[in-house]
Amino acid sequence: MTEKKLPFTKEQIEKIIEKYPTPFHIYDEKAIRENVRRLLKAFSWNKGYKEYFAVKATPNPHIVKFLSEEGCGTDCSSFAELILSEKVGITGKDIMFSSNETPASEYVKARELGATINLDDISHIPFLEKHCGIPELISFRYNPGPLRTGNPIIGDPVESKYGFTKPQIFEGFKIIRDKGAKRFGVHSFVISNELNRASYVGTAKMLFELAVELKNEIGIHLEFVNLSGGIGIPYKPEQDAVDLKALAGEIKEEYNKIIIPNDLHPLKIFSECGRMITGPYGYLVSTVLHKKDIYKQYVGLDASAANLMRPAIYGAYHHITVIGKENAAPDHEYDVVGSLCENNDKFAVNRKLPEIVPGDIIAIHDAGAHGHSMGYNYNGKLRSAELLLRENGEVKMIRRAETVDDYFATLDFSDL
Ligand SMILES: *Cc1c(COP(=O)(O)O)cnc(C)c1O
Repeated sequence: MTEKKLPFTKEQIEKIIEKYPTPFHIYDEKAIRENVRRLLKAFSWNKGYKEYFAVKATPNPHIVKFLSEEGCGTDCSSFAELILSEKVGITGKDIMFSSNETPASEYVKARELGATINLDDISHIPFLEKHCGIPELISFRYNPGPLRTGNPIIGDPVESKYGFTKPQIFEGFKIIRDKGAKRFGVHSFVISNELNRASYVGTAKMLFELAVELKNEIGIHLEFVNLSGGIGIPYKPEQDAVDLKALAGEIKEEYNKIIIPNDLHPLKIFSECGRMITGPYGYLVSTVLHKKDIYKQYVGLDASAANLMRPAIYGAYHHITVIGKENAAPDHEYDVVGSLCENNDKFAVNRKLPEIVPGDIIAIHDAGAHGHSMGYNYNGKLRSAELLLRENGEVKMIRRAETVDDYFATLDFSDL
């Protein structure tokens, strides 16, 4: 069970709304910092452990900045994410560049910043060499194909576009070593939003075993394995968060069984978590504009799928709190919807909630990752602001809301 609490009271949020109109995303800095400290502490048995925060989850420099203060690097997969890291002051080995279908200009930028490059395909070895040379340190992304089952969210690895096959990993390391690379790592991402520890431990075990095979068969001695992201969060109240200490302990057991006896110690463990770092500590706050009573009862918000897309595209559950009615009986049933001209623009369907009236303020939970960042401008909807609830209780605007001028900025009306 996970208690779905809010880090602010009704009075506090009403004050915030006076200054920053809804809808907006608000992030709880204290909770995010404490969460990342738990992760780093759990893996502290591994001296080389590093978390590269997956920037795509919450690409806001203020958030990336305080995560770097806690010791995180960044996991980037696009030019803009590399630039964001650079602007925050994160460069060199603190950037993991895990991209796919990568344009040459992005490899050039990653090399310029000294990022660790995690190649997605064997054909990118000559591509990289041609455009920016072979770095001393290189990582390959491994797709185990039929050797793993993945999970329902990410699907069967055989159907996944990512990574090298197993024979390609061996072939690729031989090729890149001949071209001058000297230090090596492997990466794999086969599960997503997974609450079951065994799946993540399975990825660690798989990569540890691969490290042994690489050493024994072709004399490649890995410096790191990158377990990537995919640790899930309890979107539903009846779910439990992943016990990070237990997870790291189970990975340590595999390390002791596989890495130590095979003379591969010390091997650094990396992760690229996004969702579990910020997801539970970000809220989409919205005001109820209308109520509608037709074949069903609808509650219409000033937010839409353009602010938080997951329910519309995956049917994902996001918990909803009617602020100030936390203790009222959930004796009404509503579809909570946004204003897009798309009938999938529903934050919740048949949700039991207390009676709602126009003007009520709604918090949509677990919107801290893959929330604002997936936002889009369909139907001329403007992206909302992002606010940071600081540790001292102050609220800082860390991204302003778009204006209609932003929306039209790429058009030239004088040219009609
Ligand atoms: C999306 C992604 C992540 C982060 O995944 P989460 O589910 O947010 O933990 C990490 N690495 C890569 C390469 C990704 O594409």
